[in-house]
Amino acid sequence: MNDQGYVMSLTSFLLIIPAFLLLIIFINMSVGIISFQEAILASDDVVGVSKDLESQLPKIGQEVIKNKSEEVIESGNPLSNSREVIRDEMQDKIDIWCLKYNKDQINAHCEILGVDNSQDPFQIEIKSRINVQKDEIKHSFNLIQKISLINESFPIMDPLPFLKCKKHGGATIGKDKILYGSSLSKYLKSSGLNNSQAYENATSPLYIKKCPYDPYELHGSTSDLANIKNCIDNGFYHESNDGACFFCRLEGHGVCPHYGFETFILPAPSANITFLNNSSILAISSIDHVIFNETSFGAYYGHLIVYFYDDTHCFHLFLDDSHRKKYGLPPHG
Ligand SMILES: [Zn+2]
Ligand SMILES: [Zn+2]
Repeated sequence: MNDQGYVMSLTSFLLIIPAFLLLIIFINMSVGIISFQEAILASDDVVGVSKDLESQLPKIGQEVIKNKSEEVIESGNPLSNSREVIRDEMQDKIDIWCLKYNKDQINAHCEILGVDNSQDPFQIEIKSRINVQKDEIKHSFNLIQKISLINESFPIMDPLPFLKCKKHGGATIGKDKILYGSSLSKYLKSSGLNNSQAYENATSPLYIKKCPYDPYELHGSTSDLANIKNCIDNGFYHESNDGACFFCRLEGHGVCPHYGFETFILPAPSANITFLNNSSILAISSIDHVIFNETSFGAYYGHLIVYFYDDTHCFHLFLDDSHRKKYGLPPHG
């Protein structure tokens, strides 16, 4: 090798160094881009699963409360702690749901922290904590969700009348009504109340539905009482301080300290035409929390009010003055 050759190879060597450095930088960049893209994909997965769990929880909650109500009605046994029972069942179901993400290497967990009353008695409140992880990407957050008791595709039955009448022959399920047969009049008689036979063959709504006549005075706003008839025909429920909440209904309580709801319990339409102008007849007031009150002083009477006459039968209720006022109906006398 002559001197010139030596200089040439040194020059080419010096020229190779920057090219080599550039190559290393390029490789690093590509690896960086790939891992960056992987992180984006993992984070997309984590966000997707988090959103999925968030939308799944109310559906699971609705299914659980519907099933629990049906179980209570079928067995005739009240739940001892309805909030805990619903929480546990929701937890079991969401645990199973979370397993399905494992196949995508996603670790998802949802803890149901608590189930309780909501400010709106037609909703319940679910508190939960969600953790989702894929690779190094983690997402943890707390949720407070309201679950409606009112859902057309998931109608929820009122378990209380079945529990209350169980020992007196039991209530049965009609199409969208609870049919009491003789059980309610026997129940009232056993509580020592007068005119219990007024509730022979009584009925009440089967499904919990929220009344659209709000403010409630609208029920009595027309002289033909068409609104209250429509409310009764549809089997609506109304917010009430005195009425039992959904959780306490599952436990067999007709009244409770929580803000709840009430509905009318309807005496069978009467062929007795004298009802039309005899408002002095008394029976226990046709409101479920009055009828299913657990203390004798919580039960009170109401005077007859005919809200519809179809040429053969008087459709009537017995209502005390404070409920007449609430529903905008004329006071007695
Ligand atoms: Zn109503
Ligand atoms: Zn309650």
